[in-house]
Amino acid sequence: EEGVKNGNIVSDIRQVCKACEHFIPYSADMTVALIGKEDIDKSCEIFLNTEKAKKLVEGMNGELIKGELETQEIKNLRSMRQEQRKKLFDEAGVEGLGLSGLVETFGRCIGCHGCGRVCPICYCVLCDFESRDYECDPSTYESELKKRGGVRVPPNTVLYHLGRLTHVSVSCVGCGMCTDVCPANIPLSTIFLKVGEEVQKLFDYIPGKDVEEAIPLTKYEKEEFAEVED
Ligand code: SF4
Ligand code: SF4
Ligand code: SF4
Repeated sequence: EEGVKNGNIVSDIRQVCKACEHFIPYSADMTVALIGKEDIDKSCEIFLNTEKAKKLVEGMNGELIKGELETQEIKNLRSMRQEQRKKLFDEAGVEGLGLSGLVETFGRCIGCHGCGRVCPICYCVLCDFESRDYECDPSTYESELKKRGGVRVPPNTVLYHLGRLTHVSVSCVGCGMCTDVCPANIPLSTIFLKVGEEVQKLFDYIPGKDVEEAIPLTKYEKEEFAEVED
C-alpha cells in the first residue's frame, strides 16, 4: 500500500508484474487514481470514462472536476517499470538466447504441461499437445532412436514450448502464472514476455487493451509481412 501511495514499485508482486507497463486500465468504465496519492485513506479521485460510469455515480457524494489521469507520478512509475523490465531480461539472458539457448533452457522441462494449464491464453478445448499425436509408445522411442541415435525423455518438450510460443506470444499478458507453477524453475514468463513484446510490436497489438479488437492470429491480412516472403 505504501508503495502505491509513494508511486514506487510495490515489493510483494511477481517479477513480471514489476516489469509491466500497462498498469493503467485502457477500457474500464471507471478508473480509481491511487498511484502517488498520499491521502487515499481520506479521499480518492475516480475518473468517469464512460456514460455508464457517469450514470452510476449520479446522486453520490463527491465533487465533479476535470482532471488528467496521466500524472507525473504515473510517468515516473512507468519509467521505473521499464528499467525493471530491462533488468529482468538481462538477468534471464533472454535477449541473446537464440535457438540453442532455448533448447538448453527448455531441455530442463519435465513435460508436466502445468504452464499451459494455468495460462489464460491456453484455453483450446483440445490442445494439440494433449492429443494422441503426441503420445509416445515404446515403438515411437525405438524408431526415434533408430532415426536420430538418441531420444529426449520426456519427449517433445522443446517442441511444446516452441509451439506454445507460436500460439500464445501475441496474446501473452505477462501474468507470470506459468513461472509460478514450473517445478523446473524455468523463467517462462520472462521468455514469453520478451517474445511477446517483439511479436506484439510487429502487429501493433496490446493484449487486453480493447476487448473488441480481434486477436492478430484470427485475422488474415493479404499484404502483411511481404518482406519475409523473399
Ligand atoms: S505469462 Fe504469458 S505465457 Fe505465462 S501464463 Fe501468463 S499469459 Fe500465459
Ligand atoms: S498450446 Fe496452443 S493448442 Fe495448446 S492450449 Fe495453448 S494455444 Fe491451444
Ligand atoms: S511447468 Fe515447467 S516443467 Fe512443466 S511443462 Fe511447463 S516448463 Fe515444463
